[in-house]
Amino acid sequence: MSRVAVVTGGTRGIGAAISKALAADGYKVAAVYAGNDAAAEAFRAETGVSVYKWDVGDADACAEGLARVAADLGPVDILVNNAGITRDGMFHRMKFDQWREVMRTNLDSMFTMTRPLIDGMRERGFGRVINISSINGQKGQMGQANYSAAKAGVIGFTKALAQENAAKGVTVNCICPGYIDTDMVAAVPEEALKKIIATIPTGRLGKAEEVGDLVAFLASDKAAFFTGAVHTVNGGQYIGNG
Ligand code: NDP
Repeated sequence: MSRVAVVTGGTRGIGAAISKALAADGYKVAAVYAGNDAAAEAFRAETGVSVYKWDVGDADACAEGLARVAADLGPVDILVNNAGITRDGMFHRMKFDQWREVMRTNLDSMFTMTRPLIDGMRERGFGRVINISSINGQKGQMGQANYSAAKAGVIGFTKALAQENAAKGVTVNCICPGYIDTDMVAAVPEEALKKIIATIPTGRLGKAEEVGDLVAFLASDKAAFFTGAVHTVNGGQYIGNG
């Protein structure tokens, strides 16, 4: 029987590419989104992937939503924590709401989505948790103190959870994409984007599919010895540890 995968933010951008890569490998995929019904419906119509709408920052909504996915598709063996947002601004001008919104969607979601699933993964002796962090969680980024802090938190969460669950057949990995050509990056002003691309040794933005393919590998049986790792997909823009 094919395994079930949940991909948060799975209907657009990097998440859509992840959902497609997992579906192509034969998984039953549930793609979670927040509010863009038109994009979700277009994605469902194009791919046949099941879509579910809930807010990953809301613990009760996650528990209820995940119970629905399990009832519809079966027990969840693979979780891709991909949903994320930015609320950029220099820290000396940042409002607490900008901080809180980013923490809620990008970091609280690690708890709200993973906690309801971890017991089942441990009991069944198999699980894959793949968390999408960011190059800016590794190196920090001016104008993104909130986002950099949340994404660095995702790396720490990954490393701790990996140690707790390795003996139970559950691997936990983190991917730090560099600048990938999605709506999130399209929101960066053109001149600023040109300057960013000039700092990428490969001379281009990444493709969402390049992240999707790595997730598909990490989800597979072949990746059983990969855990607690931080995988960079950034065209050589930042080469550092963790
Ligand atoms: P997009 O903005 O293109 O898509 C975001 C997705 O997340 C959408 O499906 C959106 O749903 C969903 N989402 C947002 N908030 C919530 C929420 N509260 N509950 C449920 N779903 C939510 O993002 P990207 O594809 O660019 O980014 C995906 C991940 O990769 C993020 O974690 C981001 O931080 C990270 N990343 C991206 C980089 C890039 O260059 N693009 C670089 C490094 C990291 P809806 O469609 O309903 O709005």
